Amino acid sequence: MNEIDWSAGAAWMKGEIIPISQAAIPVTDWGLTHSDITYDVVHVWDGRFFRADDYLDRFERSMEKCRLSVPQTRDEMKSILHRMVARSGLQSSYVSVVASRGKPVDVRSRDPRDCVNHFYAWCVPFVWVFPEDVLERGAHLYVPNDIERIATESVDPTAKNYHWGDFTQGLFDAKEAGFDSTMLVDANGHVTEGPGFNVFMIKNGRVKTPRAGVLEGITRKVAMEICAHHGLACEQVDITLAEFLEADEVFATTTGGGPVAISKINDRVFSNGAPGEITKRLNGTYWDWHNDPKMSEAVDASL
Ligand SMILES: *Cc1c(COP(=O)(O)O)cnc(C)c1O
Repeated sequence: MNEIDWSAGAAWMKGEIIPISQAAIPVTDWGLTHSDITYDVVHVWDGRFFRADDYLDRFERSMEKCRLSVPQTRDEMKSILHRMVARSGLQSSYVSVVASRGKPVDVRSRDPRDCVNHFYAWCVPFVWVFPEDVLERGAHLYVPNDIERIATESVDPTAKNYHWGDFTQGLFDAKEAGFDSTMLVDANGHVTEGPGFNVFMIKNGRVKTPRAGVLEGITRKVAMEICAHHGLACEQVDITLAEFLEADEVFATTTGGGPVAISKINDRVFSNGAPGEITKRLNGTYWDWHNDPKMSEAVDASL
């Protein structure tokens, strides 16, 4: 028999921990056929979960907003995550928790109330939303002028979701124009966010981030705490694209890398095309905080 290789990752499905390569959901699951699903992404760094309760609090709020309900309690979910990551052996990991609408008891039903909601989780080696060479020079973002962020009245962006039609179109445009990723503006011309990250601007030492129309990122929240820690004023306000492009420094925040410098948006270059000084300071504190036992907990196979 072949030894199971756990280094690619692990999943928890229907009560069992399995190698990631064996994890699959049925083709009739509404999570797949209707994007009727919510999720969250926690990370493990150097053998420790960072701010796990913040992420699981948000995941529970997302489930409520989507009217999804799964049998696992909060403590059970936590235990699943600890045991799954321990089994994978990964020291730094991208850990996804997912609640899907599932399948209706009668596959022909078109009533969401007939579906059996289910929970699953999976982990893979840590995912950098921006690769290492991009972190060094700062990310380049493309803002398309013909793709708007999906209206908040249509899909609530505060429940983490797989409705990525707008982002995926933006990503194609960005990649084809030689940029790393995209950032979308809403119907009122306000800056929102990118695929998997929030955005911040710094002008004259004042920090601002979009108030609404975005996922309330945990890294966004931590970045605001770090600003307070460094005595920097940070506000959540509506920001037009024109104002954003006037910034001295801009950065993104994501679980997949923390506060990440943005050095170019369309043809506007920021901080001489390199990570700005304030962003570098925030990034340093972010990674320092990962060793703080008040903010992290060791992966524990016995939980
Ligand atoms: C996950 C995500 C973010 C970043 O949130 P974090 O909790 O900091 O990882 C921002 N925007 C969208 C659309 C996301 O899916």
